[in-house]
Order: sequence, then structure tokens, then C-alpha cells
Amino acid sequence: MGSATLQQRQDIFELIRGIPLINIIERYSPNKVIYKAGKPWMVCPFHAEDTASLSLKGNKWHCFGCQAGGDATDFVSKLFNLKPIEAARMIANDFGFSNETDKPLTQQQRQAIQQRQNRQQLEKFWRHKVDMIAGNLAEVRRVLWLNLDKLPNLEAKAFTVELMDQTLDILEQGTLEKQIELIQSGSLERWL
Ligand SMILES: [Zn+2]
Repeated sequence: MGSATLQQRQDIFELIRGIPLINIIERYSPNKVIYKAGKPWMVCPFHAEDTASLSLKGNKWHCFGCQAGGDATDFVSKLFNLKPIEAARMIANDFGFSNETDKPLTQQQRQAIQQRQNRQQLEKFWRHKVDMIAGNLAEVRRVLWLNLDKLPNLEAKAFTVELMDQTLDILEQGTLEKQIELIQSGSLERWL
């Protein structure tokens, strides 16, 4: 098992061009493909954004936010920090063409990819949790605000609303670290 010959390398890239881009991207991306007016888009994993500005077209992708783009191999190599040939081999392996690839990824590369995928899963879990909690808190705050004048101890209640607003700011616009810290501190439990 030496290094791949030029022909073998070309064969791997050729092989990958036969797999639909969307299948490859959906397999590795932390974000789902969504359809806008029938066209596939995705929240770009290469820059921070909430709206999907990465467009998928044929066998190419392009992000209008950060201008990243390329083919399936470019996407996977950028996502996992692999050389193009390594990314191509990983794709070929994972899509059932393991006989065609010359050299598998090293244990270390596999581990790094696994770690990254675990981290993305965990982030997804927390983002979902943050969204839910922010929604619940906004509702509690709304009800409290509507009934403010009917409540005794008006000033204390107004102060609570203000505190809730500050907390909502973190939940809606803070960094994920800050949001997790806030949730884990248990300080939200007095309201929810
Ligand atoms: Zn981007």
C-alpha cells in the first residue's frame, strides 16, 4: 500500500463526481439542506449565520455570505480540515467504494472528524434547548408584563421584567458558551 498513483487519484475524484452533491453534503454537514422556492440551500457551516446563504447547484456549492465554494470534495476537506485527496477517500469509503481507495484516513484523522461531529451534535442539542427556553421565558415575561398593574408589589415585578429582558438578550443574542453557562447556573428555574 504505497501512495496513490496519479491514475488512482483521478479515479477517486471521478468516482465522487458520480455521487449527488446533496447526498454527500447532507451526510457530513452539521446543518440540514432546506428548500427555498424548490432550490436547495443550507445554513453555511463556514461562517456564523442564521439564514441559509449557502446555495447548492448541480455538483457545486457556493456561499453568498463568506464566498466559500467548490465541489463535494472541497466541502468535506474544508469542513474537516483534510487534504482534497483525503476528503475524497473518506467520501469514497463512506459511500461504499472502499475497494477503490488506496489509502484510508489515519486513526488520528478519523478521531478528529469524530470529535468534530460530536461537538456539532452537542452544539445542536444546546442550540435547540436555548431556543426552547428563550421561547418559554418570553411567554412568561409577556404574561407578567400584561398583568403588571394588577399585581401587588409593582416595583419588584417591574424589576423582574427587566431582569428577564436581560436574560432574554443572552438567550437570543449571546454566545453559546454564555447561554450554556446561564442554563447550567440554574438561575432560570425561578421563572420557568
Ligand atoms: Zn459561508
